[in-house]
Amino acid sequence: MLDPTLWSAVIGIMLGAGGAALLSIRYYRQQLATQREEYQREHQAMLDLLPQRLYRADHEGRVTFLNQPMLEDLGLPSTACLGKTARDFYPPALAAKYHADDQRVLAGETLTLVEENIARATGKKRYVEVTKIPVRDAAGTIAGIQGIYWDITDRKQAEERLRQMARVFESTMEGIMITDASERITMINRAFTTITGYEEDEVLGQTPRLLKSGRQNADFYAAMWASIQATGHWQGDLWNRRKNGEIYPEWLGISTVENERHQITHYVGVFSDISSLKQSQEKLNFLAHHDLLTGLPNRLLFNAHLEHSIERARRSQKSLAVMFFDLDHFKNVNDTLGHAAGDELLCWMAQHLTALVRAEDIVARMGGDEFTMLIEAVDEPGNAATVACKLLDLFSQPLQLHRHEFFISASIGISLYPDDGTDADTLIRNADAAMYQAKAHGRNNYQFYKAEMTTRVLDRLRLEASLRRAVEHDELIVFYQPQVDIASGRLVGAEALVRWQHRQHGMMMPSRFIPVAEETGFISTLDTWVMRTACQQTRIWRDQGWVLPRLSVNLSVKQIEQSDLVSLVKALLNETGMKPASLELEITESLIMRQTAQAIQTMGGLRSLGVQLAVDDFGTGYSSLSYLKQLPLHRLKIDQSFVRDIAFDPNDEAIVRAIIAMAHSLGLEVIAEGVETEEQAVFLQQQGCSEAQGYFYGHPLPADEFVRAYSQLL
Ligand code: C2E
Ligand code: MG
Ligand code: MG
Repeated sequence: MLDPTLWSAVIGIMLGAGGAALLSIRYYRQQLATQREEYQREHQAMLDLLPQRLYRADHEGRVTFLNQPMLEDLGLPSTACLGKTARDFYPPALAAKYHADDQRVLAGETLTLVEENIARATGKKRYVEVTKIPVRDAAGTIAGIQGIYWDITDRKQAEERLRQMARVFESTMEGIMITDASERITMINRAFTTITGYEEDEVLGQTPRLLKSGRQNADFYAAMWASIQATGHWQGDLWNRRKNGEIYPEWLGISTVENERHQITHYVGVFSDISSLKQSQEKLNFLAHHDLLTGLPNRLLFNAHLEHSIERARRSQKSLAVMFFDLDHFKNVNDTLGHAAGDELLCWMAQHLTALVRAEDIVARMGGDEFTMLIEAVDEPGNAATVACKLLDLFSQPLQLHRHEFFISASIGISLYPDDGTDADTLIRNADAAMYQAKAHGRNNYQFYKAEMTTRVLDRLRLEASLRRAVEHDELIVFYQPQVDIASGRLVGAEALVRWQHRQHGMMMPSRFIPVAEETGFISTLDTWVMRTACQQTRIWRDQGWVLPRLSVNLSVKQIEQSDLVSLVKALLNETGMKPASLELEITESLIMRQTAQAIQTMGGLRSLGVQLAVDDFGTGYSSLSYLKQLPLHRLKIDQSFVRDIAFDPNDEAIVRAIIAMAHSLGLEVIAEGVETEEQAVFLQQQGCSEAQGYFYGHPLPADEFVRAYSQLL
């Protein structure tokens, strides 16, 4: 039996416990509420941490929940959002679209879409990816919408950039190849295939050594890799091989790609096919170093070869020979058969010269009809002479060109290394000097260089230079030689003959400097000067009351081929008030044969001015009668070589007689040059030649002496 106090204690405890139980339910409820709040807060805090925007809406589209990023996106406090619908945040059209979307979700669909819109808070355009799912209650009924969206503008832009880069990668003209760090090809573009011929599946996993041509040696690649390792890139040109085996030049740039730890992860090679560039460069090179007509090396290339050969000969202590080769009277071929025939002859020469020498010897065209040859390893001068003889032999038979058969010959000069020079320029110059010597020796022969030849060539060069200054320095003088009527002894005219009062060499005759002037082209300036000076002189004489009936002036071929000669003569006539008919221009016979369109036109022009034309040194050339007949000529001047031997040489007498008869039958006047004796004058007169010029009547004299000596002969 339980003690009543114990009972009361038990009851007390039980009662106390019952009270405590009541107390603890309330407490528990309180606890639960705090916990939920805390949980919600934590939950909210967690959701606020997400970068994604989250919201919930009820069945009517009213917002029941938003996370912080979404609030920021809207730019509104949560109080301004809760219980609101899309219509409260967005323009009507957009709100209507959202409403329509919501209806689909409420019907059970899950929507995922990418849309472009404007952020409400910032007004910035952006791309967002949105997912909307239905929210169900405990019974599984759809009670609202859970939405989540996030900004994917950066990703979109990156994708766009990638797309653009891929387009560039594919469409660029440059071949691109990407390899991994172990040089296995991981990617190529279309141009790679176009250039190399390899398709993607043939190269992926391979190394670029697949393209190796073998033209570059190991050192080349070692240097290339050294640069890549040291600087991260390399560029240059190299030869690679296409799939079809063809070797081609390419311009290649290689760069490394590194990761953030600075380890190389990839190599990128970008290359272009430079075959056509190389070709045009080679063509240019060829043009710069070859003669277009014959395809032979030109002076530049010959020099380069020669310099190399000299270097080799120096090292091996061998000798070599330079030959300078010039056709004799090549000008005649051009003049009589035309330039096409001349060109053909030069090409023929080029072929035959090349065929005559060994493969290692060089034949070049220096210009005009000048060729040079470089003969290597000449043991003794005799070897060079043998080659020269073979060359001369080429011309022992007549040549057939343009349906004409004719003989031509050549002059050859030879210089030897090291005896005649140890550099290219000297050897060529000395061979040239020897060639001139061969010409002086009657052509069609060869000469070895001798030291004294140089002095002659140097003299010539000096002459050439000082001639240009002669006009400016007033060193040229015009002399006048009388032309007379044989029967009456009266003065009918004078020929203007130029002289050069040289500072060092004294009075120089034209035979010394006219050829130089002709070669250098200075002759036009010289002739113009003589013509002007002589015409002005006749004006001075006339002003002094002394009229020269006729003035003869010599013209070079170059001068008559100058297009403005007619206007020059016209101006001179105007300037000096000279009667056109009292000016006679002497042209040489070769010009008559040349018959160039320009010369014929000029002669016609001079003729219409009223100026007279005479053929100088007649009989020495090969004028065809039909040409003489066609040209607007007035007079033939019988060359002094025929006149000289009248009375001694019946042949010359016959020639003079024939010329006079021919001139008359062509309706031309005739004058004899170089008349030195009375006997000659008498003979000429008997044959019907009425005029003469020569020492018998008077030497050429300066203007003032001429007038003193001959004014009374008028
Ligand atoms: P050319 O026109 O046939 O002139 C005649 C040459 O014969 C002149 O020589 C003259 O001095 C020379 N001579 C005259 N009479 C006699 C004589 O009785 N006996 C001998 N042995 N010779 C005589 P030069 O002055 O030395 O002129 C030589 C050539 O130079 C000229 O031959 C002409 O072709 C050329 N020449 C002279 N002056 C000029 C010029 O201004 N322009 C051009 N283009 N040529 C010129
Ligand atoms: Mg003359
Ligand atoms: Mg003459």
